This record gives sequence, C-alpha cells and structure tokens, in this order.
Amino acid sequence: MAKIWMDGRLVDWDAAQVHVLTHTLHYGLGTFEGIRAYETHDGRTAIFRLREHVRRLFDSAKICTIPMPYTQDQIVDACIETVRANGLSSCYLRPLVFLGDGAMGLGAINPTRVSIAVWKWGAYLGEEGLAKGIRAKVSSFTRPGINMLMSKGKVSGHYVNSVLAKREVIAAGYQEAIMLDAQGRVSEATGENVWLVRDGVVATAPYGGSILGGITRDTLLTILRDDLGLEVQERDITRDELWIADEVFMCGTAAEVTPVREIDDRQIGAGARGPLTKKVQDRYFEVVRGVRPPVAEWLTYV
Ligand code: PMP
Repeated sequence: MAKIWMDGRLVDWDAAQVHVLTHTLHYGLGTFEGIRAYETHDGRTAIFRLREHVRRLFDSAKICTIPMPYTQDQIVDACIETVRANGLSSCYLRPLVFLGDGAMGLGAINPTRVSIAVWKWGAYLGEEGLAKGIRAKVSSFTRPGINMLMSKGKVSGHYVNSVLAKREVIAAGYQEAIMLDAQGRVSEATGENVWLVRDGVVATAPYGGSILGGITRDTLLTILRDDLGLEVQERDITRDELWIADEVFMCGTAAEVTPVREIDDRQIGAGARGPLTKKVQDRYFEVVRGVRPPVAEWLTYV
C-alpha cells in the first residue's frame, strides 16, 4: 500500500487520518507545498528544487507563526524517503503543515502536525493545454492586497479566493482564472504565475505585488535571461496588455509551462502555443529532467 509520511514516520495511505476538530480544517491557518519529481533523461528520479520548496514551507510557517517541530534538512530527507517508499519514478509531492486538534477557538495553540503525501499527477491543465494552450478568463474575484493575505506564504486559507475563482471560470467553460489585484493589475492565476510576450520582450508581475514568489517563476527567469538571452521585465501588467500580447503563458510546479491561447474570449496571438512559449517549455522540461540544468543543486536525486 502507498505510504504517507506523517509526524515523523511513514504510515499506510489509509491510516493518514485526522480528527474533525483539527484547527486548520476550521480556520485555514496552515501551509503546504507542491513539488514535482521527474524521471530524468538517464532513467533516475530527481525532485526538482526541493530545498527551495522546503525553505518556502518554513517561510510560510513563519509568516503563519506556526512553530516547526523539524529542521529543513529533516523535511528534505522526509520528502526523499516518501518518494522512495512509494517507488514512483515521477510524482507530485504535497507536504502540509497544520495545527492539530485539541482546543478550539482562533487563539488555540495546538501542536503542529506535518504530513507528506505523494502521488502520480499528469499535466495539471491537461496534455492538450500543454500542447495547444488553454482558455483563461479574468475572475470577478479580486486577489487580496498585500496586507490582506500574506502573499509570500503558501497558506491553506488563502486558497479560498483561488478556489472560488477557479470554480467560477470552470463553470463558465474556461480552464483557468487570472486574478487582478485591488488596483486592477494582473497578479497571478489560481496556482500559476502569468507571463506575456510582446515584440520579443517578456514580462511578468513583480515579486513585491500580490503574487506568490513562484519557484517555477524563478526557474523561468533564469532560463529566459541566461539560456535564451531575452529581455525580461518584472513590472505591473494590465489586463488589456494580456489581450494584445503576442503570447501569454502560465507557470507553476503543477501546471509547468502552459500556453494560454485565449483570455476573456479574445484570441491571444495566433490562438495556439506561441514559438517562444514552446522554447521556454522545451527548455523547462529539459532542465527538470536533468539535461544541462543551470544549477546542479536544483535536482535532488532520489
Ligand atoms: N501562485 C500561486 C497562487 C500558487 O499556488 C502557485 C503554486 N505553488 C504558484 C503561483 C506557482 O508557484 P510554484 O512555481 O512555486 O509552484
């Protein structure tokens, strides 16, 4: 049976249970990560940017004032152990840090609990999305401002906003929602950072805004600037700039590099995966599979 790492040891998948009075289940103060392991070009398995994801998990816990009962090294080792125990050559990893049961009420101080589950997960926005691009819509839900929800933390409760946005656009027949911040600037999608290309120049929203500091975003900054030699701007972007871009794509651990062929019923560029998007996507898949990674430490072999 598949195994889940829970509070320091591997347990059977079905035994990884919590009580209904788990604090985080009620109030949302908890944090998680999404990480991928890939089968590399030489037939091994490597977890991509594991240390950076674990660091962000600890940053998120700090933002949430949740004490971590483990060191970063222990969580890194636990992730490796969990992938190994499940014998998966490629998978998605979901570490979760949450406040357990005990007392109720917002101020309760319950023990921190940590779990790590892994599973096979294909293309998050679909294989067809990767190849041809997805249809996206700007959500009617605003991304909370920088002092409303702490955007640098990957905090469970923050995802209410994202899930509402996602459900809204799926019900309307689109695949992903793009959210604007309180000033109407493009912030990010529900689980991805957003990029546009116009006249060969690439732009994405700045780190200091209402966005999660995506680790894929950081990987792409390196690929775009150092490997492809392109000009990349981290700057404010308006909704209509997306409509008139030559290419738009999204990136995230789950969604990898996904082209966007339509936004708000307007065709983007040629209405297909753009040539630059394809270059970035191809190079991203090379890097995660261990082909000439710009930084060797980005891959943790299992
Ligand atoms: N923004 C949000 C809101 C996300 O949930 C994610 C997924 N973690 C991202 C951006 C992309 O981050 P990363 O590249 O680190 O997966």
